[in-house]
Amino acid sequence: MTTDTTSSSGASVRSTVHGYPRIGPDRELKRATEGYWAGKVSAQELDTVSADLRAAVLTQLRDAGVDDLPSNSFSLYDGVLDTAVLFDLVPSRFESPAAAGDREEFLRRYFALARGEQGTPPLEMTKWFDTNYHYLVPELSPKVRPRLVGDKPVAEFREALEAGHRTRPVLVGPLTFLLLAKTAEEAPEGWQPLELLDQLVDAYAQLLGDLAAAGATEVQLDEPILATDEGRARLSELERAYARLGGLKERPSLLVSSYFGSVGADALRVLKASPVEAVGLDLVTDDEGVDDLVKVSGLGSTRLVAGVVDGRNIWRTDVPATLATLGTLLGLTDELTVSTSCSLLHVPVDLDAETEIDPKLRGALAFAKQKAGETALLGRALSQGGDAEQAGSGAEIPSFTDTRVRARLEALGPDATRRPEDRDASSPNTLTTTTIGSFPQTPELRKARAAHRRSELPTDEYNALLRKEIDRVIALQEDIGLDVLVHGEPERNDMVQYFAEQLEGYATTQHGWVQSYGSRCVRPPILFGDVSRPEPMTVDWITYAQSRTDKPVKGMLTGPVTMLAWSFVRTDQPLGETARQVGLALRDEVADLERAGIRHIQVDEAALRELLPLREEQRQAYLDWAVESFRLATSGVAPSTTIHTHMCYSEFGTVVGGIEALDADVTSVEAARSRMELVQDLGERGYRRSIGPGVYDIHSPRVPSADEVEASLRLAVEHIDAGHLWVNPDCGLKTRGYAEVEESLRNMVEAARRVRADL
Ligand code: GLN
Ligand code: ZN
Repeated sequence: MTTDTTSSSGASVRSTVHGYPRIGPDRELKRATEGYWAGKVSAQELDTVSADLRAAVLTQLRDAGVDDLPSNSFSLYDGVLDTAVLFDLVPSRFESPAAAGDREEFLRRYFALARGEQGTPPLEMTKWFDTNYHYLVPELSPKVRPRLVGDKPVAEFREALEAGHRTRPVLVGPLTFLLLAKTAEEAPEGWQPLELLDQLVDAYAQLLGDLAAAGATEVQLDEPILATDEGRARLSELERAYARLGGLKERPSLLVSSYFGSVGADALRVLKASPVEAVGLDLVTDDEGVDDLVKVSGLGSTRLVAGVVDGRNIWRTDVPATLATLGTLLGLTDELTVSTSCSLLHVPVDLDAETEIDPKLRGALAFAKQKAGETALLGRALSQGGDAEQAGSGAEIPSFTDTRVRARLEALGPDATRRPEDRDASSPNTLTTTTIGSFPQTPELRKARAAHRRSELPTDEYNALLRKEIDRVIALQEDIGLDVLVHGEPERNDMVQYFAEQLEGYATTQHGWVQSYGSRCVRPPILFGDVSRPEPMTVDWITYAQSRTDKPVKGMLTGPVTMLAWSFVRTDQPLGETARQVGLALRDEVADLERAGIRHIQVDEAALRELLPLREEQRQAYLDWAVESFRLATSGVAPSTTIHTHMCYSEFGTVVGGIEALDADVTSVEAARSRMELVQDLGERGYRRSIGPGVYDIHSPRVPSADEVEASLRLAVEHIDAGHLWVNPDCGLKTRGYAEVEESLRNMVEAARRVRADL
């Protein structure tokens, strides 16, 4: 093991990372779990692949020079799920994995929680704070009793110890776990998961005892909830939980770690006064972290684990600037550890695998492995002073400025984001029927796209196949009797990547996979420079589709906020400025679609809610730029052109004002559960544009009956004038099969017909 190094000021400086990608450099875990689900990989093989991946991570971190290595950041599916299973917090519709007789049975029950089983819906999945990673939401009620029933953290600690690494097990903290959980339906009115805090903390206490007995000297408890208003309002619970854990006799030292934003001076005071030995802070996401440390006069003898290397973006760290920050921090703590701002779970594994990225851009990038190297280097540079110079050489990140883009944006007047107030946005029919854009991506389509990418299928043959697919989608929609048609998006691999590949200022990676949920990985493109659109991106496909029908075909684009949310984005200018550039590029596309005779244009903002800042005080500023970039994209059209937008989530409370401000003619929303609430809300606010509440849930293969859809529609027309009500599914259909899509849409159209007849 490396020994402590001592900086000039006398503080001991170490390096660590908060966590590491689990999926493996080549998505080995994805292949193994999917193989296991398909019955092609045995439980034993799955466990071997997992153990190999864990071992490789430790070797990689050690080779990178990192002093303190984390463990238990591995998961077969998700860490919050693992925590629920560890403490037996499993709803009664499931068989508890804890009671499984053998490994096979354990895995079956574990994956049933994540993916559901015949007749048993899985736990709900939701986004992990403001990232695109999803965790499984524990469902709690007074009926569950937290108790330690598993040994995953202990087993993984022991496994690493045997390989020569005394690791720091990483756990989801009790406060974060309970505040992220939802109340199960069976719980009495008003009961809250937080009522389980004391019992849960007792179970953690037992786990800490077990870890100490196994030889762990430090444990990390993640409390990112402290970066949210909700967490910040629970400081007495925070104090109580850590007073109890810190007061244990036989325990490892405790690192309480938060990320995705600053925790605020009040939480820092609580943590400083508590018996925990170390506090981990995100000093990248906002500037308040360092100010807060100053406000509380530093941490004194509590070790500061300083998250100065950005754990969720892919830019190389500016070493000289970061060393300067770390220099300041040395005055605010007796003991310092250099770390990442959060787990490296959110970035791809290894930049070395990318051979096709432009060298100029490549020089500006760092993935997980490189970032681990950066923390190690910063730790060394800080304690030795000597290699700081070397470390900093060539740190300049190149700029990718396009003066034409900047000049165009500057020349825009206030009218560029305004459409006439008095345009009439009511639909041609009342209760106009449409869909959200994509139709099923069939296996043949996926195969053809892969073959085309590998240059095994010539472009003209590939395009012919796509046109055939469009023919089929158009004919089907006509036959079903939908009013506003779509082309079905068969040419798109992904709603962001498709555009990123065609825009200037964007790069894509070959292997830059990041876990999104379970075995599902995404490859976010990199928005590195000023953005522009050299050529039309969608016009040929949409006009082809329009040529096949007399009904209107809706053009389909991805909006600026969503383009940013699902990419790695430059940090050398405010996000709002980057969003404006994307908005301008899309404005060009919108203009070309309109010129080509397209009368309905949809600009999807699926991720508007996801990027919403975790704290209320930052939300308005975000909504301002989000709205402005959308309006920049959509305000160049004639009053007679109908602008649509679509959003993918159901809690609108926070963004209702944003929806109004976008000023789209038609807004379709995912609304499987709370749909009529939103309609009612908008109705009461006197909303003047149209709304398309999703009338059925496309996330399940279940076909809704016409009666069911009819009932929802009848409810909706009570709140909003039928001329302003559109009828559509609640999201795109690309993940569904044709059989269920056709039947569902027929029922939807039939329901609209019945309600119209009675108006
Ligand atoms: N137009 C896109 C589709 O239908 C929207 C996807 C989304 O909202 N996530 O697939
Ligand atoms: Zn959607």
